[in-house]
Amino acid sequence: MNSIIPGDVKDRCYICGRRGKMEVHHMLHGSRRANAERCGLKVHLCRQCHADLHDHGAHDAELEEIAQVEFEKNHTHAQWMWIFGKNFRKEEHE
Ligand SMILES: [Zn+2]
Ligand SMILES: [Zn+2]
Repeated sequence: MNSIIPGDVKDRCYICGRRGKMEVHHMLHGSRRANAERCGLKVHLCRQCHADLHDHGAHDAELEEIAQVEFEKNHTHAQWMWIFGKNFRKEEHE
C-alpha cells in the first residue's frame, strides 16, 4: 500500500525536507507495523531523522498522531481502535 499521508514524497524527508534517497518509516511500529503497512500509514525519512526517531523517539508521537488523524478522515474512530487498539490523538475525541 502506498502512503496515504498528504505531503509525503518519496525523495524528500517528511520531517526535515532534505532531498535524496529516503527510507520508509511505518508510523506505527512494533506489533502495529503490519497494519500500518496495510493502511498506508508511512512516510519517507532521511537516514538521520529516521535514526533519531528510532533511537531517541524524535517526532515519534507527532507522526503517530498524524497517522491516526489521516486514517480517521476515511474511517471511523471505532475502526482505528479496532485495528490499532490505542488512541494517539492528544485532543479529546467525542
Ligand atoms: Zn530528515
Ligand atoms: Zn522507522
